[in-house]
Amino acid sequence: MDIKKLCGCLWFQLILLILLVSGTLNNMQENVFANNDYGMIIKKGTENRKVVALTFDDGPHPVYTEQILDILHEYDVKATFFVLGMLAENYPHIIKRQWEEGHEIGNHTYSHIDTKKASKEELLEEYKKTQDIIYSITKNKPKIFRPPYGSFDKKVLDMVEEDNSIVVLWSANQDSKDWKNPEVEKIIANTISNIENGDIILFHDYVYYDESHTVEALKVIIPELINRGYKFVTLSQLLNISTE
Ligand SMILES: [Zn+2]
Repeated sequence: MDIKKLCGCLWFQLILLILLVSGTLNNMQENVFANNDYGMIIKKGTENRKVVALTFDDGPHPVYTEQILDILHEYDVKATFFVLGMLAENYPHIIKRQWEEGHEIGNHTYSHIDTKKASKEELLEEYKKTQDIIYSITKNKPKIFRPPYGSFDKKVLDMVEEDNSIVVLWSANQDSKDWKNPEVEKIIANTISNIENGDIILFHDYVYYDESHTVEALKVIIPELINRGYKFVTLSQLLNISTE
């Protein structure tokens, strides 16, 4: 092969490689960043790595959250807690434990408001108050916000973006529906039967029942996912490796 042909061939390969890489990136961006009418929200991480993120909403609960922390500690698993400002105020020692044990803490409003129905001022107050309470305990400002009920509009996204934070929901196939406290087996089936790489799994550490079936379900879900080769990451870790 003469040198001209060789050069042409190399150029061709290079262009092919660039097209391939940009195609993969585009795909990844579509999967990771679900664009809606207003802007960017996160529902899922990379599909290229065997990772999942466990997330727990509505706490801290005086009993169940620490039981969950015990299980996470037993398996050396890191998770993300979207906490309510008013409960963080009541149980600062639990927030402190979450932080010290390497978990991520996100903002879930002060009193679980429907952010769509709230005025801009109410929303900002609920958000800011919760950021401040978490900061006062951990000396770290949350970078992630999950609106209660997954309900949000443009004002939510604008506010969060202005604070250099990001809205994170959960994967469509990963709502454990544990807030209704269904049977333990149901929570297990709702999560692990549909598991995919990069999933953000939705649990609740605060449930309004005499016993939390989430705690019992986790004792099965975590070892099962470990057996299947999954690694557990916090949301910030998931987002970082998803855009690597
Ligand atoms: Zn909630």
